[in-house]
Amino acid sequence: MNIINGKTGWIEVICGSMYSGKTEELIRRIRRTEYARQKTQIFKPVLDDRYDSEHIVSHNQLKEPSQQVNSAREILQLLEEDTQVVAIDEAQFFDIGIVDVCNQLADRGLRVIVAGLDQDYRGLPFGPMPQLLAVAEYIDKPKAICVICGNLASRTQRLTRDKDTIMVGAEDIYEARCRDCHEVLD
Ligand code: ADP
Ligand code: ZN
Repeated sequence: MNIINGKTGWIEVICGSMYSGKTEELIRRIRRTEYARQKTQIFKPVLDDRYDSEHIVSHNQLKEPSQQVNSAREILQLLEEDTQVVAIDEAQFFDIGIVDVCNQLADRGLRVIVAGLDQDYRGLPFGPMPQLLAVAEYIDKPKAICVICGNLASRTQRLTRDKDTIMVGAEDIYEARCRDCHEVLD
């Protein structure tokens, strides 16, 4: 039986490869909260400043103003009293504290929408994403299109041989590929 008393918060995770439409979907959900006249705050980690430090930006040029934070804890410090929805982009770059922060917000009755890469360029789980997926009430995994074969793509192909897990970049270094076409260069 579902008991809905209007005070329940929850966590939604949108995850997938690069170009799968995570930010596009996050922005779509944010815009709908605006129609519903709900106060929404948008956060992203300092690390992600490739296009714009003051907005979240999708690869098809949608954008929304956002606040940059150095750590997950800072989200709690910047939270305004009347905020009902918290949206977080590029969650894979956060410290593991992001899991507790999202849980605390949801426990307080907020809707928390989190977007992030589920896998790194090797196809391995990325940062705190596995834990976020475990505690989320709702999960969506949009797919990109594999640039090699045209199938649905769940992986991010790095086009250079660099081995750092975090290497911020876009079309120049990464493309979307399916499981079959994805390869880890050595
Ligand atoms: P993500 O946040 O998952 O990296 P975005 O929401 O920023 O994705 O961008 C999604 C957009 O990327 C798509 O709407 C499309 O315009 C563009 N795009 C570029 N390459 C691809 C691809 N290989 N497959 C699907 N969409 C792509
Ligand atoms: Zn393919």
